[in-house]
Amino acid sequence: MPTTEMINDIPLIDTHSHLDSEQFDGIRATIMEQTQRAGIEKIITIGCSWGSSQKCLYLTSVYSNVYAAVGIHPNYTSDANPDHWDRIVEMTMHPKTVALGETGLDRYWDFCPFELQQDYFDRHIRLSQKTGIPFIVHMRDCEQDILNMLIEAKQRGPLHGVMHSFTGDQATADKCLELGMYISFAGMVTFKKNDQLREVAATIPLNRILLETDSPYLSPHPLRSKRPNQPAFMVHTAECLANIKDLPLTTLAAQTVENTYRLFDRLNT
Ligand SMILES: [Zn+2]
Repeated sequence: MPTTEMINDIPLIDTHSHLDSEQFDGIRATIMEQTQRAGIEKIITIGCSWGSSQKCLYLTSVYSNVYAAVGIHPNYTSDANPDHWDRIVEMTMHPKTVALGETGLDRYWDFCPFELQQDYFDRHIRLSQKTGIPFIVHMRDCEQDILNMLIEAKQRGPLHGVMHSFTGDQATADKCLELGMYISFAGMVTFKKNDQLREVAATIPLNRILLETDSPYLSPHPLRSKRPNQPAFMVHTAECLANIKDLPLTTLAAQTVENTYRLFDRLNT
């Protein structure tokens, strides 16, 4: 990976990786080495169920630069029982839990009843508002449903959260920003066909942008054919955003790291 080697002294934080994924089993140590060489300072590994959240917390004990988000993904809500939610709530006490999620809504995969997804999304937001721990939102084919729930929640108090791997339109981005949310970009913003998404990205204020890989899924251009995606590849997404914003990579990187520490304030401890 010559490109990554070249700019390995630019610190970045991958705010969204599924390091617990089976795709990393057996190669995780190598992946983590490459991560370090690529200048990725910290990684937030994201839970999708209580079991995966548990595995994420375990990984935080193996790797000092790994932190966890714990939660139940909308597409896994059917598998969750009341017990599981109680365990997620308990996991927020863990010193390396820095976020809740991923949560949100998904109308693309018809895996779980929509009302059940809404119930769990609501629980994550309320838990966030109660504990001050930020929440991570997955949004697929349900922009208005997400906005409606965020607007309702905002009436109860401030929102500390991020729209992860954002691919929505300008109006949705504007509304999310107005509600106080951060906007996070993954590999998809680098895809050649996604000019429209890059136009939206150009309008996001610098102090509200986060970066992520969403690895092991969707490697950024020009590494799209490389699988699995991994945190070390994030520099390509950072470069793409730097181009969009017409800034040196170092400036863009430093700003997104600062934003990450501001939102996920438990990362500081
Ligand atoms: Zn994810």
